[in-house]
Amino acid sequence: MVKAKKTLGQNFLIDQNIINKISDNINPEEDDLLIEIGPGMGALTKYLQQKNCQMICYEIDTDLKPYLNNLENNRTKIIYQDILKSNIKEDIKDIKYHHLYIVGNLPYYITTPIIKYLINLDLDIQEMVFMVQEEVADRFTALPGTSNYSSITLYLKYYYNVIKLFKVSKKCFNPMPKVESAIIKFTKRATKLDVNKEVYFKLINDSFKMKRKTLKNNLSNYDFDKILDVLNKYQLDENVRAEQLDEEVFQEISKII
Ligand code: SAM
Repeated sequence: MVKAKKTLGQNFLIDQNIINKISDNINPEEDDLLIEIGPGMGALTKYLQQKNCQMICYEIDTDLKPYLNNLENNRTKIIYQDILKSNIKEDIKDIKYHHLYIVGNLPYYITTPIIKYLINLDLDIQEMVFMVQEEVADRFTALPGTSNYSSITLYLKYYYNVIKLFKVSKKCFNPMPKVESAIIKFTKRATKLDVNKEVYFKLINDSFKMKRKTLKNNLSNYDFDKILDVLNKYQLDENVRAEQLDEEVFQEISKII
């Protein structure tokens, strides 16, 4: 086994049960394309290959080549590159596939940048299944009225239904990370929100700017009387905090500002 590089978030999965469970939760067909981010030593890759779909894996660390070389074949390509600097659109342009799936036991130091990067590529991604830090999973999947509910929750929800599938103990990795982990699944939303995306994203960012402040304080640059009309419609008063509002209320507010 190579010496794991902490700076690259290398915590390799060693628990076969977890590997099977992740693999069971992503189900591309043979004519689909599956992208894996950070295959490492191929712990997950080997099982994903049994799905017989085409695969592209992005791994930044060329020291892992000895482990990954023998997984390469005419259906699986390994690209040694920083995922954030990759050109996925270009890399997949000659591949004929039906649906696109993405999977990865993500390097935790860049979890959110990777997910935002993938979303901004504007590829039509069917499902994504990721291992993330549990705390991050809780923020991504939080419900209104809970302290983890934040602008990132609503940002992701705009594109995907995000659910936490199961927890993963730190004992399932080598080396053992400091934090607990969880598997989350993103499924493309069937219907998009009826909003102006830029207005909506600015509204949710502004609304959650200062967590302890009321919505009114965070939105001091907005015409709050108009917003209050919407709040009243939902039996909410002017002292409400952003974390108490669900997507529907933000959607309505974004339409009148
Ligand atoms: N999939 C393997 C497993 O489950 O055992 C490894 C997971 S490990 C948590 C994260 C992997 O992502 C490492 O192999 C690491 O080298 C790779 N990685 C880190 N930063 C990366 C980046 N910017 N682009 C692509 N891969 C990266």
